[in-house]
Amino acid sequence: MTEIAIVGGGPSGAMCGEQLARAGHTVNIFDEHLAWEKPCGGGLTHKAVECFPFLLDNPYPKKLVSSIELISSNEQSVMLDMSHPIVIYSRTVLNGMLLNRAAEAGCKVQRSHVVSVDTSAAKPRYCVEGEWRSADFLVLAAGARNRLLPETRPLERDELEITQGYFVPETCDAITVKFLPHFEGYIWSFPRCDHLSVGICGSMAAHTSAELRSHLQNFVKKKKIATDGAQFYSHVLPSPRERTFSERTVVGKNWAMIGDAAAWVDPLTGEGLFYAMRSGELLGQALGEGCPEKYPARVKAAFSAELEFAARIVRRFYRGSFLGTAVTTRMVQFLRRSPVFRQLMGDIFSGTQDYTSLKRRLWGHLGITLSEFVSSVLDCPAPAPLPRGGAAAD
Ligand SMILES: Cc1cc2nc3c(=O)[nH]c(=O)nc-3n(C[C@H](O)[C@H](O)[C@H](O)COP(=O)(O)OP(=O)(O)OC[C@H]3O[C@@H](n4cnc5c(N)ncnc54)[C@H](O)[C@@H]3O)c2cc1C
Repeated sequence: MTEIAIVGGGPSGAMCGEQLARAGHTVNIFDEHLAWEKPCGGGLTHKAVECFPFLLDNPYPKKLVSSIELISSNEQSVMLDMSHPIVIYSRTVLNGMLLNRAAEAGCKVQRSHVVSVDTSAAKPRYCVEGEWRSADFLVLAAGARNRLLPETRPLERDELEITQGYFVPETCDAITVKFLPHFEGYIWSFPRCDHLSVGICGSMAAHTSAELRSHLQNFVKKKKIATDGAQFYSHVLPSPRERTFSERTVVGKNWAMIGDAAAWVDPLTGEGLFYAMRSGELLGQALGEGCPEKYPARVKAAFSAELEFAARIVRRFYRGSFLGTAVTTRMVQFLRRSPVFRQLMGDIFSGTQDYTSLKRRLWGHLGITLSEFVSSVLDCPAPAPLPRGGAAAD
């Protein structure tokens, strides 16, 4: 397998191309925009920086943010400090950096729109600039909106979120996350070097664009964020459900999907940059070894168990209630009271605490009420009573 065509030069495609070019393959990356301001918060958590240290260690402009304000739907708020900052990039800068790395590794990067793909023959084909070309393997890294879906199904409405937002020419030093009543999603404000990315995401099956727009308008008005003249954006974001992982094919004999195209996004937070880069890297490694069929198992071992866990609890988190009040509101109330819980949530937001090992950390560290609260969200039995003399932290 020597010649690889990659459709999409976002974080997933660029990272995959870099891996493959370094392993000696001929790699063509096609992107209709190249480096562009793709609608995004641009936030990278600690797990991304740990896995790809160059994200921090480079001269490109970025903003490091260590505080996050959570606001409940009834306007109670709490400030969390994160032990590791979230690194926030403009997407033009991030995509440009990743594409430069791919080109330096030997990829040919071309600004072109790929119109169609065909994987039915032994060698996959793709149509670009009015001509059908072939490769040994086709990587589909064209994001959530693309319709290039050989041998697999599109994501359905309940597997997608609508997003809307503004790039506003002002900045600040903390991230804001605001929850809304009976709403599967949230509003965010991510400060970048010289502007804010302020937006809202919500389940496409549960909410309309008009609903999102109205919530966002109320938020910017209340926060006195001036959006006159600010650039407005809207986009879709995969929000995988349990069946997405079990049913949807992401690899065939001569093609594979990575990043948003494969729906590798955390449905609870909307984090996708890390999973895009990591899936690109994992596919690159499997292809480099000549074994693309190993890609799904490697994704499973690396991160998809985490995403499946998030898919199981997402509705309970946004829609559920605990002792008669919304889970998100209770969470903010408990955070205001408990430093231990604040530290835990700070670690979850910064990406140092994963979901699957959360239960182990909880038991014995939180008091009874908090443990029951977290258990109700995670849908697992409450911990056994603390041993005699064990300290309750809430
Ligand atoms: C509003 C919003 C906010 C977000 N905020 C965050 C955040 O703060 N942190 C985080 O981790 N994740 C965030 N995400 C998710 C993150 O943006 C995605 O997970 C990530 O961009 C996926 O990378 P990708 O390379 O798979 O796809 P993309 O970044 O979408 O890249 C796909 C590329 O393919 C190109 N393309 C598409 N079709 C074709 C074609 N036919 N021919 C040629 N080129 C094509 C496009 O030009 C694009 O450059 C957010 C998403 C949205 C929508």
